[in-house]
Amino acid sequence: MAKLQAIRGMNDILPGQSQGWQFLEGIFHSVVRRFGYQEIRFPVLEQSSLFQRSIGELTDIVEKEMYTFEDRNGDKLSLRPEGTAGCVRAAEQHGLLYNQQQRLWYQGPMFRHERPQKGRYRQFHQFGVEAFGMAGPDIDAEVIKLSAQLWRDLDLIHHLTLEINNIGTASDRKSYSAALTGYLKQHSRALDDDARHRMYSNPLRVLDSKNAQVQAILQEAPVLANFVSPQSREHYEQLKSLLADLDIAFVENRHLVRGLDYYNNCVFEWTTLELGAQGAVCGGGRYDGLVEQLGGKATFACGFAMGIERLVLMLESLEKIPHDALKSIDVYILGADPDDAAQSQKLASAIRQQYPRLGVISHCGGGKSKAQIKRAYNLGATAVITLLADSDPACASIRRLDQSGGAETLEINSLVEQLGRFL
Ligand code: ATP
Ligand code: MG
Repeated sequence: MAKLQAIRGMNDILPGQSQGWQFLEGIFHSVVRRFGYQEIRFPVLEQSSLFQRSIGELTDIVEKEMYTFEDRNGDKLSLRPEGTAGCVRAAEQHGLLYNQQQRLWYQGPMFRHERPQKGRYRQFHQFGVEAFGMAGPDIDAEVIKLSAQLWRDLDLIHHLTLEINNIGTASDRKSYSAALTGYLKQHSRALDDDARHRMYSNPLRVLDSKNAQVQAILQEAPVLANFVSPQSREHYEQLKSLLADLDIAFVENRHLVRGLDYYNNCVFEWTTLELGAQGAVCGGGRYDGLVEQLGGKATFACGFAMGIERLVLMLESLEKIPHDALKSIDVYILGADPDDAAQSQKLASAIRQQYPRLGVISHCGGGKSKAQIKRAYNLGATAVITLLADSDPACASIRRLDQSGGAETLEINSLVEQLGRFL
């Protein structure tokens, strides 16, 4: 029988890698707590129509990337390709939105049928925050500040650039799209197939084409900023001045449009040069029309989502995961003799009780002590303990694995008391 394999583009995260994930998750959880955001959890599977109505029928995600199927009842369902739609659906369904302010965060797997490559997978993971009921731009600045705080705490801030743009209201974009399509039609022979297709279906998406020839043509194209209404412009100017006051550096990118239809006014993206082609680690913006579009009352909203895999890749390649976060244990109790099992486990319990932050393994299964020490070393243990058989009162010897200082023999109770000296 053929060996079982994971689905292409869907990764297992193994011991040795999961520590980096936990480090990142720990810092994210601490930042959202410090900013007063509350967690929301919602299913990975939703009615396909939720994503069609929110992300947009003519986006890459809905056109080509969703995992959609009929379940046994014939309901058309999709694995979530992103979090905002499900978050809005859940918050609206449970009455969290009308006339209220909410600061929410989520994390979890997302699914897109893309071509797998470094930093681009079919199951990937996001952290996201969504803030509802605030007209901004103060909340836009807060959300961006939260992301910047995360980069600071991860020591990645110097490797990331904040790009922002004002994409105006839906009606601003409608007038602009018409002008852009008109312009692109005149140059259609110089465009690639993708741009020619999008020129009619979703012309704004032509703006972030990766084709240099298309980009050259866009140099002379009508500029979205000239179609943006005065209120949107005012909002955007205020946001820029808030960001400056908060010492958050940014660059304006007039071609930044984002791949989802629901955004309006200011959108942003954090990008890096560390990851090659997959340089976007976090994207977001305002989406004031989405709640109403999904059947709720008009609700101000903004948020972002960041890709966990890409951040972990950055942390690994820049060696930003602290040594301590990579250790899985601190103390390993060696056990030569099955008769010592109870005593060894009791000692492990006593240490765990007194030092709740330490990881302690009591060796199981016997075997050579050399092999046990190697295992202790590979798990990152700082100290090993050897129980001394037949001693009365019960004693054990302890030593650091890095060879600084020899072994010391201590009565078990005082060993537990003095453990700190060896760590
Ligand atoms: P890209 O331009 O790289 O396709 P995107 O604009 O489609 O990104 P968003 O929908 O804004 O991405 O999602 C937010 C973040 O999620 C991205 O900045 C990225 O870090 C991450 N992300 C998106 N798609 C993938 C994927 N297929 N694999 C891994 N991470 C992803
Ligand atoms: Mg994409």
